[in-house]
Amino acid sequence: MQLLIDTHAHIDAPELAGGRPELLADAARAGIGRLIVPGVRSADWQALLQLVRQQDALYAAPGLHPIYAEQWSEAAAEELHELTRQPKVVAVGEIGLDGAVGPALELQEHAMREQLQIALQANLPVLLHARKATGRLLEILREMEIGRRIGGVWHGFSGSLEVGQVLWRLGFKIGVGPILLRPSARKLPQAVVELPQEALLLETDLPDMAERPEALVAVAERVAELRGCPLEEVVSFTGENARDLFHF
Ligand SMILES: [Zn+2]
Repeated sequence: MQLLIDTHAHIDAPELAGGRPELLADAARAGIGRLIVPGVRSADWQALLQLVRQQDALYAAPGLHPIYAEQWSEAAAEELHELTRQPKVVAVGEIGLDGAVGPALELQEHAMREQLQIALQANLPVLLHARKATGRLLEILREMEIGRRIGGVWHGFSGSLEVGQVLWRLGFKIGVGPILLRPSARKLPQAVVELPQEALLLETDLPDMAERPEALVAVAERVAELRGCPLEEVVSFTGENARDLFHF
């Protein structure tokens, strides 16, 4: 049987430290074969790399989250560049723009552009974080031709079919997570039904959006229900999409 892939799980989060072995065992039992752990703060990158070296199922996407853009520096840029050459580093993330919280957008934009440059040099895809800044982020991605050159995932997608189609045409995949399980998700179900299956990836965004790794199975089941296909088919095509993007 094919295994599920969680393309965005903060397994390295300090609040999960105590229960981490149990969490990973539960993920394996639930049929989750691989999890990508995104970076958040630069101070945690080395620990993140160490964690993925110890755990077969884990892969790393080091990067500086936009809400910590103040931590960006020449030293951070050098370190990130170096990390992109390490085994089990499959993407740069999570990077992007957050118009809701975090420092001034110019500062966020600067940190993101430099990280996009590093991803381009390393030929690695990116994990994108976008909140209340979709238009500006799209402009920069277009300008730097990120979709065509390296691609990536629009993580935690909650938008409309139209936005999903724009992203897909630009060369990005759509990260579908626990937002889909909320009764309040109005536009997202339609996007999940209408977008081509090649566009879709699954994620939990543990621990913020879900408390347990098994939430990924619930998201996959909901995708299957919406698209009117068997669960195994969703497991199969989302897995293929992830392997295709992250080359693992
Ligand atoms: Zn995240």
